[in-house]
Amino acid sequence: MIERVEILGVKVDAVTMAQAVERVIKLIGEKNPSIVATANAEMLLRATHDDELKNILNAANLVVPDGAGTVWAARHLGKFMPERVAGFDLVQELMKIAPARDIKFFLFGSAPGIADKAKLKAETLYPGIKIVGTRNGYFKAEDEPEIISKIKNSRADILLAALGVPKQEKWLAKYKDELKIPVSIGVGGTFDVMAGVVKRAPLWMQRARLEWLFRAMLQPSRAGRLIALPKFVLKVHKQKIG
Ligand code: UDP
Repeated sequence: MIERVEILGVKVDAVTMAQAVERVIKLIGEKNPSIVATANAEMLLRATHDDELKNILNAANLVVPDGAGTVWAARHLGKFMPERVAGFDLVQELMKIAPARDIKFFLFGSAPGIADKAKLKAETLYPGIKIVGTRNGYFKAEDEPEIISKIKNSRADILLAALGVPKQEKWLAKYKDELKIPVSIGVGGTFDVMAGVVKRAPLWMQRARLEWLFRAMLQPSRAGRLIALPKFVLKVHKQKIG
């Protein structure tokens, strides 16, 4: 049995990367469409004042501990959290095993051209992988029926949605039953990194739990978002002391 750790009102699964991959494979085989979320500190903080997001996360079939902040929070609360499961890494692990298991992906989101570049990258890295469709993430409400039928008709097993938090979670929750894709995952900036337009922090920085700092340095427009981290730490500490 995998434990769920409640962090600021959101239940996060205490899974390793291997267990997360195993769970996604299992969800593909189930009848009802599933949602997988990758919870980092910023998302968990947002959920404290966004009930719609909070409810979506608590209803999700799997919430992985994305980010050093989430792992820290669980442990600070005295709970077991085996390791960090970054959304980007989870996608790579799933793509790695996809050809052998005939798992098909649809890449939805990011600026025009980015999902196509991510597709090419995946095809180079994981020969034989089936990316059965792409669609950029900039659209109007009236474009949605066309997007929904494109995704639905692709018959993908996994829909990766990169629209940013909380847009991707809300969009997936709203349309999952219509889309009928077995597993949908909100993956934030994953296609940007795969396409090579945004760099991932070097391994030493990831290991030093400084990926957030690297991102802020690389995209100064995101620096304002750093304020979320001390806020998150304070709120988790408040939760701990009661
Ligand atoms: N994005 C999108 N449609 C939108 C807003 C954002 O497709 O209406 C994309 C954006 O181009 C980027 C991703 O969503 O590729 C969000 O990346 P970010 O790293 O900001 O993710 P977050 O930290 O919000 O999960």
